[in-house]
Order: sequence, then structure tokens, then C-alpha cells
Amino acid sequence: MACLFCKIANKEIPAKIAHEDEDLVAFHDINPVAATHVLIIPKRHLVSLADATEADQALLGKMLLTAKRIAEQEGRTAEGFRTVLNTGPNAGQSVFHIHMHVIGGRPMAWPPG
Ligand code: 5GP
Ligand code: ZN
Repeated sequence: MACLFCKIANKEIPAKIAHEDEDLVAFHDINPVAATHVLIIPKRHLVSLADATEADQALLGKMLLTAKRIAEQEGRTAEGFRTVLNTGPNAGQSVFHIHMHVIGGRPMAWPPG
């Protein structure tokens, strides 16, 4: 399997793990854009949100609740944090294994660039 995030999920490539369970792995981004920058991925390969189906409903919900958990773990709940799913070229998706960014630790602008 050539996918970078499958390799991280399988521990073939090291990453700083923030959370792991039977379905998901959360790990710190290699190039953080804020003091907290964690990526949540399903262990099962899924390219992007555009490829998700109703069968993935529970998995997607679990990713979101895991983002809440990571924010709590990182002490970002009170000050706020951002969850981001980049999907496809216009959004700047660069790794084609779905991942939810959890970003916190500084004020952020809106709209995004
Ligand atoms: P995207 O642009 O696809 O939404 O986000 C991909 C993210 O994966 C980027 O923030 C990038 O820094 C991160 N990333 C890319 N390669 C690696 C890696 O090998 N290890 C880790 N921990 N993060 C990575
Ligand atoms: Zn993958």
C-alpha cells in the first residue's frame, strides 16, 4: 500500500500519536500551523469526504467526536479550536486519505485563504 497515511496507521512510518482506537488514529501534523495541529484519520483507507457513503456515517461522526476529545486533551476547549476537512484540489487536499485537522492555540481568521 503506497498511501502515506495508511503507513502511519500501520506504524510503518512513525508519527507522534495523540489518540488511537480500533477505528481511528490521531497524530500530530509534521508541519504544524498552530501550537495544536493534530490529524485524525480512519485506519481504513478512504480517499476523501467526496468518496464517503452512508456506510461511513458512524466513522465520520466518530472523527468529529474524536476532534472534541483531542481539543480537550490539548486544553483548547475553552479558547476554541478549528476542525477542517480539505476535500479535493480547490480545498488544497494534499494527502488522499481522508483526515480531519484539529487546529488550536491561536486566533484564526475567517474566511480561510
Ligand atoms: P491536507 O493539505 O491534505 O489537508 O493536509 C495534509 C497534512 O498532512 C499537512 O498538514 C501536512 O503537513 C501533513 N503531513 C504530510 N505528510 C506527513 C507525515 O509524513 N507525517 C505527519 N505527521 N504529517 C504529515
Ligand atoms: Zn490510505
